Amino acid sequence: MKIAIYPGSFDPITSGHLNIIRRASKIFDRLIVCVMVNATKQPMFTREERVEMIRSVVSDLPNVEVDASDELLAEYAKRKGGCVILKGLRAGSDFENEFQMALINRKINPKLDTMFLTAESQYMYLSSSTVKELGNYDVDLSDFLPDQIIPVFKQRIAVIRQGG
Ligand code: ADP
Repeated sequence: MKIAIYPGSFDPITSGHLNIIRRASKIFDRLIVCVMVNATKQPMFTREERVEMIRSVVSDLPNVEVDASDELLAEYAKRKGGCVILKGLRAGSDFENEFQMALINRKINPKLDTMFLTAESQYMYLSSSTVKELGNYDVDLSDFLPDQIIPVFKQRIAVIRQGG
């Protein structure tokens, strides 16, 4: 059984992430989307909220499960029996970082391979942080966020604006 782990912050999940998940779900027998907790980042959504948001958009994909972890990714993958880490590769800057992380993960866990799916061209420049920037303006988000995520995201922006 080919298991892949797709790690990320998913704060929030974007259409670019979902595109990678849909494509990968056809390649692997089982795909675990894992919300990784990054202590250096102050997230917009709690890890439980992020897990729920991802679940709401992958419910039609039976071989995709959603989890969260604050473990080291290489350790998490070992515990889950995952042999492949899946990453999405966007334009430019992703490469250096991801290449370095892939090598480090393999050093820690030599059985661990990292595979990359190139971003779809319309999502090449899309990131959660870009969407958070756009959230401050009155922009149509339907090209950037899955339909189910837009109202949740807008509501959170409104709460933040009110100082909550
Ligand atoms: P970000 O906060 O930069 O959007 P995450 O840490 O949540 O990203 O990303 C998780 C994974 O998804 C990473 O492998 C990242 O390269 C990939 N990814 C993020 N956005 C996209 C996109 N628009 N298209 C393809 N892959 C993406």
